[in-house]
Amino acid sequence: MGKHTASALPPDEHAIPTDLYLRIFPDPVLRRRCAPVGEVTDGVRDLARRMIEIMRQEEGIGLAAPQVGVPWRLFVCEALPDPDKPQGEAPADPLVCIDPVITPLEDAQLDEEGCLSLPEIRGQVNRPASVRLEATGLEGGRFVREGGGLAARCWQHELDHLDGVLIIDKFGQLDRLRTRSAVRRLEKAHR
Ligand code: ZN
Repeated sequence: MGKHTASALPPDEHAIPTDLYLRIFPDPVLRRRCAPVGEVTDGVRDLARRMIEIMRQEEGIGLAAPQVGVPWRLFVCEALPDPDKPQGEAPADPLVCIDPVITPLEDAQLDEEGCLSLPEIRGQVNRPASVRLEATGLEGGRFVREGGGLAARCWQHELDHLDGVLIIDKFGQLDRLRTRSAVRRLEKAHR
């Protein structure tokens, strides 16, 4: 979706703004194709920590780096129990996913989604019901996780952000029409 191609070089840590704040559509950073992170440095860990704070402040369950103005392939996701699996194994800490890759495991399913960068806008989005997620964690190693339900939906939503894709791009015609005036209001208010 984005016009920019991903850089082969690791992102420059000095490019992290000191003042991170939630970016609202149509901020152009939300349309960037984000650069791979590669090595997990102190700067990357600090960014993830600040993103978790902002996610909780804004009462979201997931947040991608471009949503705070940093075009890197990194997202955080609040620990979500999988309703399809036995309880008790959900991790207490939010999941930090660096350079994530997602493989669908099941057919797509429609469900309602919202986005912190698109206040007041909700609509039906079609996504594979369960997926396999592979990503680098804060310790620098790759990990694999499989999940369905809200977790699978959240991971895929956040991964879309890293390619500059938003839920409004995925809405069907009815939701597009229904949310058109709200999208226009945002375009006017934030441009
Ligand atoms: Zn979002």
